[in-house]
Amino acid sequence: MKKTIKDFELKGKKVIIRVDFNVPIKDNVITDDNRIIESLETINYAINEGAKVILMSHLGRIKDESDKPKNTLKPVSVRLSELLNKEVIFISNTRGKELEEVTQNMSNGDVLLMENTRYEDLDGEKESENDKELAKYWANLGDIYINDAFGTSHRSHASNVGIASILPNGIGFLIEKELEMLEDTIKEPKRPFAVILGGSKVSDKIGVIENLVKTADYILIGGGMSYTFLKANGLQIGKSLLDESSIDFCKKILNDYPDKIILPIDVICTKEISEKAPYRECFITDIESDEIGVDIGNKTIEIFKQNLDECKTVIWNGPVGVFEIENFAKGTKKILEILKKLDATTIIGGGDTASAAINFGYKDAFTHISTGGGASLEMLEGKILSGIEIIDNK
Ligand code: AMP
Repeated sequence: MKKTIKDFELKGKKVIIRVDFNVPIKDNVITDDNRIIESLETINYAINEGAKVILMSHLGRIKDESDKPKNTLKPVSVRLSELLNKEVIFISNTRGKELEEVTQNMSNGDVLLMENTRYEDLDGEKESENDKELAKYWANLGDIYINDAFGTSHRSHASNVGIASILPNGIGFLIEKELEMLEDTIKEPKRPFAVILGGSKVSDKIGVIENLVKTADYILIGGGMSYTFLKANGLQIGKSLLDESSIDFCKKILNDYPDKIILPIDVICTKEISEKAPYRECFITDIESDEIGVDIGNKTIEIFKQNLDECKTVIWNGPVGVFEIENFAKGTKKILEILKKLDATTIIGGGDTASAAINFGYKDAFTHISTGGGASLEMLEGKILSGIEIIDNK
């Protein structure tokens, strides 16, 4: 068991909390503040315990000077202040006199947000390459380090692995919940246990399939990745997405686990992926050479439903169609509806599927919606995430 924020006496201590404030921002306006909201429990706990709270996060990527104004955390500090209903001190640098002096002079319960950790990437990728000198500099600002940024826990950065290797450390409530929901559920799922996989590439999900095919009762496959499986089964898939390099893998999985892998039997096809393009529904055996499969069909939805209805645990990663386009979003919406009605542990593994669930109004319909895309995928692959591995055990 990893140490958590609750294992520390926080009063009067400078507590560095690595949060995931990597939120979408357009013209200085945050378009989805879910990640900020998810971090509040840990921040509020630290405030209430009398800590001096120093928040660090990355935002976007910083490749040259022009990326800086687009990726400043300033708008996040404003939104966070509203959500906490208290002042958030924003320091517009990632090092320097102001940061050092202000962190030294904070009062108990104060909250400070430092500028985007990736500003340091302009100078030799210091944050992303876990530069030792930078980690030491940041660690010197605090007494205790708490990692609550699940979305970056699969990366070894100065602001997570770097600082954690220097300061007494633990995880926050968000990571604790992610571990409980993802890791523990996979270890001991209530049965029947189904995994739904979609999204674009099989190669991205090979690790997940290899890890979960042994424990899951069913793996339902939709989305762009299903066409490589259909091709591996000898079908013509027209211009649908094909991940050539994964055909042999698909053949082997279909051969080794014929009863577990459930593929679409019908699809929605179009000649062009666009809002206004005409489309039709057909059996997977009838896809024309100039057509692209863009969603699962009604008969497949029914088969998926029959399998899911009896399940006690369902984990889902990857939309089953091009859900960004209304006409091709039906399959993904139907799966959301089916899962909402289940009396089961239902988990969405982050990324695009999480966005779909939240945008289509199903935020509260699941046991858990992971805040990490890549991180949750790696966890489903059975990997140990470096930002969590570095945290001390109790
Ligand atoms: P991923 O990042 O691998 O989870 O893939 C998510 C993306 O897969 C979304 O942007 C979907 O639009 C896309 N996607 C889902 N189904 C299909 C499909 N049948 N053809 C092309 N793209 C798809």
